[in-house]
Amino acid sequence: MVVFTEKDKLTPFIQNLKKEGKTIGFLPTMGALHDGHLSLAKASIAQNDYTVVSIFVNPTQFNNPEDLEKYPRTEENDIKLLTEIGVDFVYLPPVSDLYNKGEVAKVYDFDGIDKVMEGEFRPGHFDGVATVVAKLFRAVNPTKAYFGEKDFQQIRIIQEMVKQEQIDVEVVPMPIFRADNGLALSSRNMRLTSENLEAAPFIYQVLKEAVALKNKGKTPTEVIDFVKETFAQSAFELEYFTITDEEKLQPIDTFNTDVKTRGFIVAYAGDIRLIDNIQF
Ligand code: AMP
Repeated sequence: MVVFTEKDKLTPFIQNLKKEGKTIGFLPTMGALHDGHLSLAKASIAQNDYTVVSIFVNPTQFNNPEDLEKYPRTEENDIKLLTEIGVDFVYLPPVSDLYNKGEVAKVYDFDGIDKVMEGEFRPGHFDGVATVVAKLFRAVNPTKAYFGEKDFQQIRIIQEMVKQEQIDVEVVPMPIFRADNGLALSSRNMRLTSENLEAAPFIYQVLKEAVALKNKGKTPTEVIDFVKETFAQSAFELEYFTITDEEKLQPIDTFNTDVKTRGFIVAYAGDIRLIDNIQF
């Protein structure tokens, strides 16, 4: 495996492979890799001639400086894991390779998709995500790019960004990878206390119960009330739970079989912010 730290070396290298007709799969990450990331990388390896994984903790998507500072960094182990599964190239740039000094995120108009849920609770977050992913797409120029449905709203943002920036790439959504107990794998899980780690599968259990209620004929409001009441009696603090359509991510009033819908949740276990979602 080859590690690139400069886009000026990576971009022409990949261009040469593409000129030879090779397909390039790409997985952008912030490192602290786990089996969820690896499931995406393995899909890319299976579906493309070459796979590139980027590891970059993007400063413009953190609205909380402490969160950025505390973000786990395990680069040595990340490279080991990627080598083991057969990833071809890693792009591990310093901030200066992607941003000019003092550069801030581009301000996008995503027609409200960026203002709900994560956008409401993390203002400016999606401008930062879209800015860095556009830069990464231009540096790598992949055929396909893989994103996890754990960050479902992020996928919708990337799909819109790609249209607006006219970047020629296929965005491939991938299912949420869970531990056997149902907990969605996340780099933040390693910061949970052992007690909270044991309790955290509760989040997915409640999501599954919410879907069961919908299947018994309950309305979105009734399902939301159930989740709120269940969390009020738990050790977790609910930041939000909402049920929206999958396109515009707007709250729905009724379940309609013609419209794909999803329930989105964020809950705190101590000071660790956990995110999950489920299709209804
Ligand atoms: P991150 O390093 O958190 O920015 O994540 C990089 C990519 O991996 C994003 O597309 C995430 O949605 C995806 N990802 C992270 N955790 C999981 C998971 N448990 N299952 C599926 N995809 C995931």
